[in-house]
Amino acid sequence: MTQTFRRVLPVDDAGYYGKFGGAYIPEILNRSVEQLRDAFYRYASDSDFNLQYRQLLRDYVGRPSPLYRATRLSETYGTNIYLKREDLNHTGAHKINNAIGSVLLAKRMGKTRIIAETGAGQHGVATATVCALMNLECTVYMGATDIARQQPNVQRMEMLGAKVVAVHSGNKTLKDATNEAIRDWCCHPDSFYVIGSTVGPHPYPEMVAYFQSVISEEIKKQLIVMEGRENPDYVIACIGGGSNAAGAFYHFIDNKDVRLIAAEAAGKGADTDMTAATMCAGKEGIIHGARTMVMQTPDGQIIEPYSISAGLDYPGIGPLHAYLATSGRSEVIPVTDDEALNAAFNLTHTEGIIPALESAHALGVLDKKKFAPDDIVVVNLSGRGDKDMHTYMSCINNGFSTTN
Ligand SMILES: *Cc1c(COP(=O)(O)O)cnc(C)c1O
Repeated sequence: MTQTFRRVLPVDDAGYYGKFGGAYIPEILNRSVEQLRDAFYRYASDSDFNLQYRQLLRDYVGRPSPLYRATRLSETYGTNIYLKREDLNHTGAHKINNAIGSVLLAKRMGKTRIIAETGAGQHGVATATVCALMNLECTVYMGATDIARQQPNVQRMEMLGAKVVAVHSGNKTLKDATNEAIRDWCCHPDSFYVIGSTVGPHPYPEMVAYFQSVISEEIKKQLIVMEGRENPDYVIACIGGGSNAAGAFYHFIDNKDVRLIAAEAAGKGADTDMTAATMCAGKEGIIHGARTMVMQTPDGQIIEPYSISAGLDYPGIGPLHAYLATSGRSEVIPVTDDEALNAAFNLTHTEGIIPALESAHALGVLDKKKFAPDDIVVVNLSGRGDKDMHTYMSCINNGFSTTN
């Protein structure tokens, strides 16, 4: 049985969110992107495909992920804080939601080879995992800087049978890995490129958001049971490319009573040259196939981004989020390395949960906003901190105070 795909996001048929988005691709990829678009809309409306996707989310990923009322954290901030526990998913982050959907789609399209890029390694691990499950060949591009700072994830990908290719261009992080993955795709247009965020040419931002939208779908159901209402007052998520935020915002975008807050990585400060705060420091441009906000020099050269968090170390932002922010629907708050580290140690001490460095940026917003005692605040805890232990330990060893 097939219904038609119900479009929820503010995007048109050409993939534009206001003036952002579109598909700026080399001609050699035209056919592949067109095939992907057709297959996505076809299978997103296919009940057999959705059934298989939902069953894997339940039995393999462990969904629904809990919505946890963080009692001690709520007391600290004098409000009601809920954590959406994407950290409890199989492989430790929200990335697996998209990897399952995208690789299932690749399988239906008859693809045999998968390409992916990865920053912190969470998307690479998720993709390698689903490729092992579905018996597909998998190549993951990763910047050499990130390979050094996220070793446990490199080892997991290799054990899962993926080929991890080190990228030595630029500052050897996510942007550079994405460039290499696109280059591979241009050489092998029959391969399926699994993008790890709501970036890239149309239909990727819409497709990845769709596969992540299960997050806000579950939040609504869980809040009804726990609070008697399905809409929180705030939803807070960190933004690299924007996929966990897109999933957490998705079913709330049309409800203006729900305030949407995106935390971007300010690095050493949004007004310094060591930052990844794209909405603060960026200007309109084109990156990886989409028109969006981009950190660039006056003559259009991409500025190398910086963040302590490998998953947020990206000079662009998904076109959906550029649109939500510039239209006033969302608020973007920059959170520095130190503010994120403070928030990470604070969550660990008050709730016994070690968050991913990326998710710690979302938690950092709690110190920057004033909430009312009866507000319901949902923070999307996008991933767990195992991969970041090395960074946390070196902060402690370098005298970072972990008790304020
Ligand atoms: C990859 C990653 C992010 C950033 O990516 P988005 O697409 O912006 O969600 C955030 N948190 C975790 C744990 C990640 O692995």
